[in-house]
Amino acid sequence: MVALLAVAACASPRTTHQAQAPTKTGASPLQPSSTSAPTAASATPPDESSARVLREALLSSSRAFEFVRSLTDDVGPRLSGSLGSKAAVAWAERTLAEEGLARVHAEPVKVPHWERGEEHGTIVAPVWQPLALTALGGSVGTKPDGLEAEVFEVDSLEAIEKADPKAVKGKIVFYDVQTERTRDGSGYGRAVRVRAQAAVGAAKLGARGVVIRSIGTDESRMPHTGAMRYEDKVQRIPAAALATTDADMLHRLMARGLPVRLRMTLGAKILPDADGANVVGDVEGSGAADEIVLLGAHLDSWDLGRGALDDGAGCAIVIEAARQIAKLPKRPRRTVRVVLFANEENGLAGAKGYAAAHGAELAHHALAFEADLGAGRVYETRFLGPPAAVPAFHATAASLVSLGVAVSDEDAHGGSDLGPLVAAGVPVMDLRQEATSYFDVHHTANDTLERVARKEIDQAATAFALAALAAADGTTDFGRIPEEKRSRR
Ligand code: ZN
Ligand code: ZN
Repeated sequence: MVALLAVAACASPRTTHQAQAPTKTGASPLQPSSTSAPTAASATPPDESSARVLREALLSSSRAFEFVRSLTDDVGPRLSGSLGSKAAVAWAERTLAEEGLARVHAEPVKVPHWERGEEHGTIVAPVWQPLALTALGGSVGTKPDGLEAEVFEVDSLEAIEKADPKAVKGKIVFYDVQTERTRDGSGYGRAVRVRAQAAVGAAKLGARGVVIRSIGTDESRMPHTGAMRYEDKVQRIPAAALATTDADMLHRLMARGLPVRLRMTLGAKILPDADGANVVGDVEGSGAADEIVLLGAHLDSWDLGRGALDDGAGCAIVIEAARQIAKLPKRPRRTVRVVLFANEENGLAGAKGYAAAHGAELAHHALAFEADLGAGRVYETRFLGPPAAVPAFHATAASLVSLGVAVSDEDAHGGSDLGPLVAAGVPVMDLRQEATSYFDVHHTANDTLERVARKEIDQAATAFALAALAAADGTTDFGRIPEEKRSRR
């Protein structure tokens, strides 16, 4: 969920342009005028022969699709605290070691443990209609015999704040908020705060439960789960998402002005925190091994589907990128590190745990990337770091020319698992993936291997590999993110 909250802050790029190779003088023609003059070193191109070998190897023998297949077929769903999450850690350790990474190990973290249980819902008046519904992650359950109440509909979080408490008390609040389809996922980012805050907003006015229109762009009967949260001192009420088609119907019934009653039974349980782990592996640098270029993705997934797009694809992209770099005849100067984070979906314990465990080493993290927006092709890149490092970013981005990746001068975000690194000043580079259809299946039972297209994921893996190689082989320092840009955007 949080990764996608991250998208919330993303506006459309102000300007974009195709990446171009740096000029002879070392200055990229794309360098914004606000940046300082580049040094000769700042535009050091990546080792061309290594890049060519890497590109050809990825085009002819990418195993990215095979990694998603293996993770989804051999492990499956892997929500924090579940047996699947333990199997995923073992899978990741085995896979990284088999694919030639060094120092492969798991780093333990405590993670939330929530179980869904059985769940069902029905409109009981003015007609009887079974609902396609699923609990939001972290929700409390209902009593075993369920919760039945009249429905009160709102179209925003702001609307519930303005509602008359007398009209809301004792009811199930229905939040009917559409998710806009966008290429960069920003529509999801704008809608998702409803999922996070719906229960608290309704409980403050005395509601007994909450249902939301799924935060998704499909028109199907697949409800989308995802994390929600409670606040201390506010009653914890059960919260569920309706498939978008069921939300449509509930809205039509409400529009008639007759009382609508809904019944839902959620078997969800919050259990004591459990053991989880990040999995880390390195392609050791040949000249500056203590400097790290980090490739991150998250190993956990929701429980309904198989976590193919979210984030099996991201894991596969970064594993394949590192595997191909490890096979190069000449290893890059800096270390390329893969981190498969625990618990992105409902707590970020993995991201926080990595930053805590590597505190002093973060000063030597040269640049970080994250893959957590499915299996689509990379269409644009952007950077967050000091202005003086923008030429180094452009030199790195030049490695993506052949893939048709545009360069944006908008600040990168870095993604949710990189949040603690951004806060510590580690520069980040976004490789933005095509996500137009990603939110059709995101967090649903339909998040399966069938949604992964080989050609697309191979392009994405190639982009991550080429950018990581360029960043790891360059001699330039990407600097630190200025203090004022380290807080979450
Ligand atoms: Zn997710
Ligand atoms: Zn994700």
